[in-house]
Amino acid sequence: MKYYSTNKKAPMATLQEAVVKGLAGDRGLYMPERIKKLPKEFYNTIDQRSFQEIAYTVADAFFGEDVDAESLRKIVYDTLSFDCPVVKVNDNIYALELFHGPTLAFKDVGARFMARLLQYFIRQDSQDLVNVLVATSGDTGSAVANGFLGVEGIHVYVLYPKGKVSPIQECQFTTLGKNITALEIDGVFDDCQALVKQAFLDQELNQRMRLTSANSINVARFLPQAFYYFNAYARMKALGKADQLVICVPSGNFGNITAGLFGHEMGLPVKRFIAANNANDIFYQYLQTGKYEPKPTRQTLANAMDVGDPSNFARVYDLYGGSHERITSYIGGATYTDPQIRETMAACYQKTGYLLDPHGACGYRALSELLQPGETGVFCETAHPAKFKEKVDEIVGIDTEIPPRLAAFMKGTKQSISLSKEFEDFKAFLLRE
Ligand SMILES: *Cc1c(COP(=O)(O)O)cnc(C)c1O
Repeated sequence: MKYYSTNKKAPMATLQEAVVKGLAGDRGLYMPERIKKLPKEFYNTIDQRSFQEIAYTVADAFFGEDVDAESLRKIVYDTLSFDCPVVKVNDNIYALELFHGPTLAFKDVGARFMARLLQYFIRQDSQDLVNVLVATSGDTGSAVANGFLGVEGIHVYVLYPKGKVSPIQECQFTTLGKNITALEIDGVFDDCQALVKQAFLDQELNQRMRLTSANSINVARFLPQAFYYFNAYARMKALGKADQLVICVPSGNFGNITAGLFGHEMGLPVKRFIAANNANDIFYQYLQTGKYEPKPTRQTLANAMDVGDPSNFARVYDLYGGSHERITSYIGGATYTDPQIRETMAACYQKTGYLLDPHGACGYRALSELLQPGETGVFCETAHPAKFKEKVDEIVGIDTEIPPRLAAFMKGTKQSISLSKEFEDFKAFLLRE
C-alpha cells in the first residue's frame, strides 16, 4: 500500500517511509491510497469474534500488503494485551473504556502498535539502533515511553519541561529505566519541542545516529485506533444494541475520531459520529459555518483536548473530498465549557454511579443531549478518572481509588537527566550516549 500526503505535493511513500518520517516532506499528513471494505460476512459474525481477531482483520486490510501475516498477527496481539470493553452507563449510553492499558489512556494502543511496527522494519533492513525523540507536556510521553518499553533495537528519549508536568504523569516515564531515558529540560514545553525539531535538522547528529519521531500524526499510531471501534460494534451487536449506533469521541487533535471514520469507510455499520469538544471549539464552528479557523489554545479541565488547530482535520477534510455537506452528514459536534464538564461529572456519578474523567464527560454529555429516539450511543472514555484524581475528587466529592498499575508507577524511583534548553547541550549529550 502506498501513502499520499494530504498536501499532495510530496511523493507517495511506502508504509515504512511513512512510519519512519511521520510527516510528509510537504508537511502534509500521510493517508493510505485505498481503504478496503470488509466483507458483509465479517460484520454478520463479528459478535462471535474476539477483540484480537477483529483487530487482526482490520490491521490486515491496512498493513497486510506490507507486513507478513505472522508478524502482523504478533504485532496486533502484543499491542492488545489489555481489553477495551463497553460498559453500560444508562439504558441507551455505553462507555467504550480505552483506559485499561499501561498508562490508563487510549494513546497506549497507537503507541504500542507503532513501537512494534517500527521494530519490525528495523529488523528488516539493519541492525542499527533507532533513537526515538519525543517532547511531551505530559500524556504523550508516558504512552510513547511505555509503548516502546523493552522493545529491542529502539531507544527512547523523552524530553519534558521541568516542574510543568503533574507528579502522576512524570512518574509514568521517569521510573521505567531500560531503553527509556527521561530528560528534564530547564524550560517550557515549546523548548522541548524546539530541541527535538532542531535535532532532526542537525546533519552531524543524523549522520551519527538514526533518529525518528513518534508523533501522534504518524500513520502507525493513528490507524490502529480503528481496532476498538470495531470491537465496540461487535460487543454492542452481541447485546442486540447495534442497529442504530452513534459513536461519540471526545476530540482534541482529532486522531482518535479519524480512525473511527476510517472504520466507517471500511463498512463498519455506525449510523453517525459525534465529535465532542471542550471550549476549544474549532471543529464545532467548522460544522456550523463551513469555515475552518484555527484559534489560540484555551486551557480547560479536559486538557488533553486543548488544541486550537487540530492536525487531523486535514485527514477528515481529505477523506470526504473537502465537502462540508458530506462531513456534516456523518459527523455531528458539541462544545462544553468547564462548568458544564463539572456539572456533567457530578450529575452522571449521582444518577448512574459511573465515574467520568473530564474528557469522557464531554462525550457522555453530547450523547445525553443529541441522541435521537431509537439510537444507542457509545462514547470513548479516553482516560481513567484516577489520572485526574485531584480534580475528580473535588468535583464529584469522592476519594477516587488509584488502580494498582498507576500506584506502581508512583512507587518507582525517578530517574531523569537534567539538561538546559540549549541545543548544544542536548546534542553533546546525545553524542556521548
Ligand atoms: C489525547 C487525548 C484526547 C484527544 O484525542 P485526539 O485523538 O487528539 O482527538 C482525549 N482524551 C484524552 C484523555 C487524551 O489523552
